[in-house]
Amino acid sequence: MEILDDAIDNMGLSNKKVSKLLLVLFIVIPLVFITTTSMCKISNNFLPFEGFQKVLLEGRYQNDNDNNNNHSMELEGRGIVQNMTHENSGGGEEEKNNTIEVSQGKVQNNCTASQGTVTDGGPKNNTQKLSTNDSKNSTTHDKFLDGLLPSGFDESTCLSRYQSHLYRKPSNHKPSPYLISKLRNYEEFHKRCGPNSRAYKIAMQKITTPSSKTHHHYHHHNDNVDAAKCKYLVWTPVNGLGNRMISIAAAFLFAVLTDRVLLVRFEADMHGLFCEPFHGSTWILPMNSPFWNHENVETYQSIVLAKVDKARNLTLDQLLLPSVLFINLQHTKEDPEMFFHCDHNQEALKKVNVLIVQSDQYFVPSLFMTPSFSHDMNKMFPEKDAVFHHVGRYLFHPSNEAWGQISKFYDTYLAKADERIGLQIRVFRPTFTPQQAVMDLLLSCATSNKILPEVDTQNPAGTTASKVGRNNHTLKAVVVASLYPEYGENLRSMYLKGPTITGEVIRVYQPSHEEKQKFKDNVHNIKALVDMYLLSLCDVLVTSSLSTFGYVAQGFGGLKPWLLYGLVSNETHFPPCLRDLSPEPCYHFPPQHQCNGNSKEHFAASFPHMFECKDYYRGVKLGDGVVH
Ligand code: GDP
Repeated sequence: MEILDDAIDNMGLSNKKVSKLLLVLFIVIPLVFITTTSMCKISNNFLPFEGFQKVLLEGRYQNDNDNNNNHSMELEGRGIVQNMTHENSGGGEEEKNNTIEVSQGKVQNNCTASQGTVTDGGPKNNTQKLSTNDSKNSTTHDKFLDGLLPSGFDESTCLSRYQSHLYRKPSNHKPSPYLISKLRNYEEFHKRCGPNSRAYKIAMQKITTPSSKTHHHYHHHNDNVDAAKCKYLVWTPVNGLGNRMISIAAAFLFAVLTDRVLLVRFEADMHGLFCEPFHGSTWILPMNSPFWNHENVETYQSIVLAKVDKARNLTLDQLLLPSVLFINLQHTKEDPEMFFHCDHNQEALKKVNVLIVQSDQYFVPSLFMTPSFSHDMNKMFPEKDAVFHHVGRYLFHPSNEAWGQISKFYDTYLAKADERIGLQIRVFRPTFTPQQAVMDLLLSCATSNKILPEVDTQNPAGTTASKVGRNNHTLKAVVVASLYPEYGENLRSMYLKGPTITGEVIRVYQPSHEEKQKFKDNVHNIKALVDMYLLSLCDVLVTSSLSTFGYVAQGFGGLKPWLLYGLVSNETHFPPCLRDLSPEPCYHFPPQHQCNGNSKEHFAASFPHMFECKDYYRGVKLGDGVVH
């Protein structure tokens, strides 16, 4: 009541008047409120609330009828942006200002604000749910992402696993019951055959005992290794984090389809990024495993090349394959066809106990192409545009360290925004592509598609054009992910130049700016993961062509991004961007031959759910065929 007394004093009212006022306040106003909220919409000129709340928010609230004041409020909002550094500095001051601005928004348009609270099930409201027990119970289902995630984990060791749903809008895609059962079966299998299990020790002993029969380091399949019950797929890293994550997802599905235990060769640069995905076991290749080194391991490529050498008239399934085989699926344009999508090769590979796969590719489409896998793949993924969406959210849970950064950034800068816009700016040839050209392209994409508003430079005082948006107090928070700080800075200073023509308030944040891609550096990789994840929490995404970094973000978020045209020099391009057809990553180097050896122009034409990637003509990607 103190705040009410102060308000009355400020208004200079007598006791009698106060009694009347209290009557009005406690009886009439609630009645009016109930009536009007049910009728909605309360206008901005709704006087009983306006007069009262103006006093309560004295000094902060700007009268909506006053153009100048209104403008100064916008500038105040931008001032906050200006004071931001592109590093996440903790943002105590920022937090305070955010609160003020949201209060202002509610005062000026009560109906909209309360409607938002009730109907918007998005992250900002979900975040608030976390504190109440009731809501915790009601969101238990979401916590497991519709059955995608298993129960039983110690939540404290990996907070992101069961908290991510509080930050993300509920997915439009439900995992199929078949996928869920395959995942639960796989988890059991991984526990039974994974590192630390008895079966693992037995299998490894059999596989690694040197063979006296052959010149190869490892046995061939007619040795006693046939008796080993557990088979393994060892994933080996190559390239950046995005490449790694999409290829791990593909490798995992390959492991599920072929009854292999997936083990990842995470060196120090991958430490501290992810939680363990499989309950009761680990997916990290044990340090004492001989498969950290594949120098002496025979390669699939050499065998396939021998096979296609017609003179020798060999087929892969007739070959004596070793118990350990290395497959390089890191395609380039020049690579010979590997026929990995062909049943006869897959049949032969079944006999190999340990496959070491090196890939930077999302080779999931080739699993759909393989006849013996396609039935399972289709049953697991009836929605073809949600494969990575499910597998990515199942496998990749940011570690507590990464999650601390993600959740803190989100809570501080993004939670209260009405809309979150993610801009991923990846420049592959920075020395040839001027930043201004990239910036122009980005702005052209964002403004022409109404992702971001233009600045009203003609009427900086907010007189003409900005009147249109006078009552629009939408707050858009922009997350810029880039190696270079200039993009965030330029955008931020642009929105300081004047009001936006729509009246929307734009705030720009760039969580990091690493300047260059760094290798062998897990802190750098954690920053990359934080950026990808924050992008994935946005409502609208603009990504850069060909970037697997962006693919991960769009896949996690289930978002069809706006794909920026890939500039390679100082140029312009129209259109500056295209709406992508699905959140799936592009498989850049799909096979180019049918299994009988005949060349194939493009696999997209042969499968209803495969399309040519919009960012790379050679690539294929999965989708539902609906463009928007
Ligand atoms: P791609 O090369 O764009 O396909 O993506 P990758 O993730 O495979 O490799 C690029 C790497 O460069 C990332 O993994 C990061 O290490 C770094 N990088 C590129 N863009 C960004 C960015 O916006 N933010 C951060 N933190 N790192 C980036």
